[in-house]
Amino acid sequence: MRLLMEVIDALDRDEFTFFAQPQCDISTGKVVGAESLVRWQHREMGLISPSRFVPLLERAGMIHLLDQQVWEKVCRWMRSWMDRGNQPVPISINISRIDIISMDVPAFLSSLLEKYNLPAKYLKAEITESACAEEDDINDTIDRLQKAGFLVMMDDFGSGYSSLNMLKSIPVDVLKIDMRFLEIKEESEEQKGIGILESIINMARLMGIPVIVEGVETLRQENILRSMGCHYTQGFYHYKPLPIEQFELLLSDEGRLDFNGLHCKKVEPFHVRELIDETLFTDATVNSILGPAAVYDVYEGNIEVTRVNEQYFHLAGMNVFDNEGLAMKLWENVWDDDRPTLLGLFASAYERRPTGAEGAIHYVKPDGKVLWVQVRIFFLREQEEHRIYFVALSDITPLREKRRTLALRPVADMGTEEMERLEQYFGSLPCGYGLVRIDLDRSGKPMSFDIVYINQEMERMCGSEPQTLRHLAVKAFGDDQEQLLDKAYQSAYVGAVITHYTQSAITGHYLQLTLYQYGHGYAACLLQDMTNMQIYERASAACCWPIGRAAACRSENGSCSIKPMP
Ligand code: C2E
Ligand code: MG
Ligand code: MG
Repeated sequence: MRLLMEVIDALDRDEFTFFAQPQCDISTGKVVGAESLVRWQHREMGLISPSRFVPLLERAGMIHLLDQQVWEKVCRWMRSWMDRGNQPVPISINISRIDIISMDVPAFLSSLLEKYNLPAKYLKAEITESACAEEDDINDTIDRLQKAGFLVMMDDFGSGYSSLNMLKSIPVDVLKIDMRFLEIKEESEEQKGIGILESIINMARLMGIPVIVEGVETLRQENILRSMGCHYTQGFYHYKPLPIEQFELLLSDEGRLDFNGLHCKKVEPFHVRELIDETLFTDATVNSILGPAAVYDVYEGNIEVTRVNEQYFHLAGMNVFDNEGLAMKLWENVWDDDRPTLLGLFASAYERRPTGAEGAIHYVKPDGKVLWVQVRIFFLREQEEHRIYFVALSDITPLREKRRTLALRPVADMGTEEMERLEQYFGSLPCGYGLVRIDLDRSGKPMSFDIVYINQEMERMCGSEPQTLRHLAVKAFGDDQEQLLDKAYQSAYVGAVITHYTQSAITGHYLQLTLYQYGHGYAACLLQDMTNMQIYERASAACCWPIGRAAACRSENGSCSIKPMP
């Protein structure tokens, strides 16, 4: 009672104000609108949050007294912002169930628009889900608000009362879902929460209703929402509710705003669920698209296959009808050395949801042939001690073989044995390694070079095409083939150690290339990715200005001792 009296006094003393929390487009991060949130600026206690007094006023049937003040403040501010020559983004106001019972909300809001000469498109009405669920004449209020030009949003959808059926019977323009109600933060409940969220978003999309997800606090949550096809978010991850001066600062940077309003985007990202729900895909089509795939059950260090598609049988070289003991067979056929790798992939797929984990393993077919198989693993769910995963596989043996033939291409005076030795020593080095043979003409001048070996890292950095490799090597020497040949000659025949830098036009990475003699006529080439070093140097050069620059330039001949990479 005492608090209620204080609130009523505070209304008289004009102690209520509002903060604005921006709503953002998930793909651009731009601000598409904001929500006004009341705050009590108490003389002694400072800022008081609405959870302390809004429910109390609602119970006392007096919330409309506060809301009328808040809504008017929003309109007054909007007018002043426009009078200062700015374009506003739409602001939503909160409407309680009790507001709808105790006053004519559409009429009051229309009178405010008139008083402050504002177009209705700048105000959005947020009505809580409970009001939608409990009020019989809610449709009439929504209808009148929409006819007056306001956008109507259902707030806190999914918080308890709502059913998806409600969406059909209550014609709102936008849905707001609060993630926090779905307990997505609780590790154990996460999958369930995400499932609910995804169904709501899918359903809303099919009905053409835009969705704003509230309470988004982390990049991880934002990424999950993006992958579900959600377009708008509101939450601490982007902005907390801002005092109006700070909100104005944000609004004055028009590059951060998006005036296109909320909509269900026409060009949709790809949503498999919709295609399946609409039965555009048959099982056969899905299986062809997926390729070999299986469901694995991992428990207490065991791995069992519980479901496979036909493509999986083909890959594994098994007969579709011969699935006796299949569960264990498929695991046992993974090469011994690769089993820890596979277990590691399952563990990291569990950690990294929903992205999954990826890697390559050897698989021994019943006929003894060894396949290189690329596996992509996604965690599905957990039941007691069992973790269930979806695994997509592809046979990459031909690709690996192509690499080996390139890597182990025997040249005139270098036998296969030597090549295998190279692979053994340099194959898995963590930097790029290549071997170049320099051919001389009759007068003993360098004539051409031939790449005779590259290791795995070199292939990863530059590709396995000899032409690309040659191009990159030439580019490192200022696009001068002759110069490169000369340097390679210096290394291969004279024993010089030469280092150059280049930036890959394909990946944009900075590479360091060092040539040294491998044997008479052969230059070994070490390639290192220096991108991180380059970034580090730039960052440190920028932050120690001007002291760093003075120190760096204080060499004896007066030239700068830290040189930028070409
Ligand atoms: P609401 O309308 O659902 O507003 C969202 C609430 O979530 C706000 O709390 C906001 O500060 C908070 N929020 C937003 N993003 C995050 C986040 O990422 N993490 C967390 N932890 N919280 C986040 P606030 O301002 O305390 O308001 C609470 C509720 O009070 C509102 O929920 C609304 O129902 C009511 N309310 C606020 N202003 C008004 C008003 O002017 N009139 C009426 N009738 N109710 C209001
Ligand atoms: Mg709200
Ligand atoms: Mg809400």
